[in-house]
Amino acid sequence: METLFEETESLCPECLKVIPARRVLEGDVYLEKECPEHGKFRTLIWRDSELYRRWGYGEEAPGPQQVLAKTVQGCPYDCGLCPTHKAETCTVIMEVTQRCDINCPVCFASSFKNQSHPQLKDIREMYQTILDAGGPFPVQLSGGEPTVRDDLPNIIAMGKEMGFNHIQINTHGLRLAKDKEYLRQLKESEADLIYLQFDGISDEVYRRLRGANLFKLKLKAIENCAAAKIGVLLVPTLVPGVNDHQIGDIIRFAKEWIPFVKGVHFQPITYIGRCPKSPRDEDRITIPDVLKALESQTQGEVRVKNFVPRRRKDSHCGFSCFSVLMEDGRLLATTDFEFQQSIVMGSGCLKESPSEHVRRAISERLRFTEGKPTSETEPGTWQGFFKRARTHYLSISGMPFQDAWTVDLERLQGCCIHVVTPNKELVPFCAFYLTNLKGERLYHNRQYLKIPVRF
Ligand SMILES: [Zn+2]
Repeated sequence: METLFEETESLCPECLKVIPARRVLEGDVYLEKECPEHGKFRTLIWRDSELYRRWGYGEEAPGPQQVLAKTVQGCPYDCGLCPTHKAETCTVIMEVTQRCDINCPVCFASSFKNQSHPQLKDIREMYQTILDAGGPFPVQLSGGEPTVRDDLPNIIAMGKEMGFNHIQINTHGLRLAKDKEYLRQLKESEADLIYLQFDGISDEVYRRLRGANLFKLKLKAIENCAAAKIGVLLVPTLVPGVNDHQIGDIIRFAKEWIPFVKGVHFQPITYIGRCPKSPRDEDRITIPDVLKALESQTQGEVRVKNFVPRRRKDSHCGFSCFSVLMEDGRLLATTDFEFQQSIVMGSGCLKESPSEHVRRAISERLRFTEGKPTSETEPGTWQGFFKRARTHYLSISGMPFQDAWTVDLERLQGCCIHVVTPNKELVPFCAFYLTNLKGERLYHNRQYLKIPVRF
């Protein structure tokens, strides 16, 4: 196959200045760039360039629903969102604390024990910022570790009162394993989903990634969520040589917990936050690596062809597959790349915009729904299948975030996951958490972290 070059822009991993870059499509796909001061960089971004080409059906997105930021330095330094941003919001991340009660070797938010957290009036303002930016959108309460706050149920109730339909909690789950009363309060405040850090099914994985034997506690957290009838999304951070051999095991584990576990969302490791070293290509798991592992480690129960890009604008950013758990205990994937592509390329059969579609999918699929899948007469009928599909399904998705080596400004401008800040801005996720080699952030939660602004 001939080598293809695609011009784009990136950042220097040392000084974070915007520099020209190009994607090089050989057998695999690399991002090459050169900083006049700090030299050349070449980083693997996607193994298997053929799959990369097939997945590249990006199209122009409509732009941000509402421009909130005044642009001074331009992309990516002061997005908030800015006029050059090309995507609407699909999910908003809200940091409700900078504090965390464990000290993971791997953490994208660089959280620590003694950080402060915003007051309820600040949180109300952040919710209001989301509304002013065209919301309500699905919101993920994040941090830090949100469950260090005793008033988290109040924060959720406040969001619900203000009209937010879907609020999920990004947590390591340790408090949920130990404190059923707290979980009951979360349910009562109408929390929709526990976005649970879940890296694998053995203690060894947790020792290496989180510094402690956490598997039993994760299990207990899931049991408690099931008893409280709150849906759970399992979120593994994938690290080569640590847990990439457990991808199939994680899917089998998730299946056992259907209908309480709604899905698995894989996050291949990116080099941001508290791990600022120059990564080698072997340190990376790209999207095709995850898809191929999913196929081989489930013995073909889900296949590479069942996965579709999460959105069209940034079709190389994420993947998803929606499967129904059938009576025989197998997953039946309902998504198919060729089929979806034919719809997208066709005559606008989709009645809603891609962002609307993603928001609706998040809101409808990722919460616990009461109901029994089938009565005895229904197996094998379409009616039975659709009834089953309402409760007994598994969403498998994933998204590697961008880091200072892989960041591609064209992709960044298509980002639909936005962090709301106390400065009344929405900032694309990968820009917000991006750090340079020294661990210095491009952005930060300026009001609460006393770090000098870099740019
Ligand atoms: Zn530089």
